[in-house]
Amino acid sequence: MSIRQTATETGYGLGALLFPTLCLNCQRTIPGGQRTPLCLPCFSDLAPTNYWELPENRVTDKFQGRLELQLGVALYFFNVGSVCQTLMHALKYYQRPEIGDELGRQLGNYLRNHPSLHDLAGVVPVPIHPRRLHQRGYNQAERIASGVASVLRVPVFPQALTRTDFKGSQTKMDRLQRVENVRNSFRPGRGNHAGQHLLLVDDVVTTGATLDFCGNLLLEHHANATLSIATLAIAE
Ligand SMILES: [Zn+2]
Repeated sequence: MSIRQTATETGYGLGALLFPTLCLNCQRTIPGGQRTPLCLPCFSDLAPTNYWELPENRVTDKFQGRLELQLGVALYFFNVGSVCQTLMHALKYYQRPEIGDELGRQLGNYLRNHPSLHDLAGVVPVPIHPRRLHQRGYNQAERIASGVASVLRVPVFPQALTRTDFKGSQTKMDRLQRVENVRNSFRPGRGNHAGQHLLLVDDVVTTGATLDFCGNLLLEHHANATLSIATLAIAE
């Protein structure tokens, strides 16, 4: 029996036999040849926030008075040294865009049939800096957005926001100038989303400044639009 037959009969792809998938966190082989970033024990170490069941939570608190949200959620808690941090690093720095797809679908599963999203028109990813997009080859927020959108059966609007190059060298600026520079690098993009409910998506929410800029741009640019925010993680 050839290796190809064995692989077919056991249901494993040939690729999975030759290149077993290793868990990103513990480096053990993931049984079954599944293309998944974590083994089951490491997956169960992720800590879901359950924010989709809490109309007021730490995400909505961050934007209180800054941005009116229909729903604000994050999927997992992000701590230094946590499994969640390993996943987010791999997604951003180690060329693992499929993590965005997978966690985006998980997030989508929690948001499916959520009453606050009954009128959702589409998902808007936070754009990344063009130079970073060139280096990385993908925008992680766009991969998350497509995972969420595939489960919620709504379109992704990847052009709804654009990001331009920074002006000058950031290193010569003080903190306030830097914040202003980042704010000015976001622009409303193509498409008319007047009156639509948009779900703004990013990987991690920390201070919330970027989501705040982007959310306000969308609401200012599209008359009577409404907004929700969903991220994969929230820094504790
Ligand atoms: Zn593991």
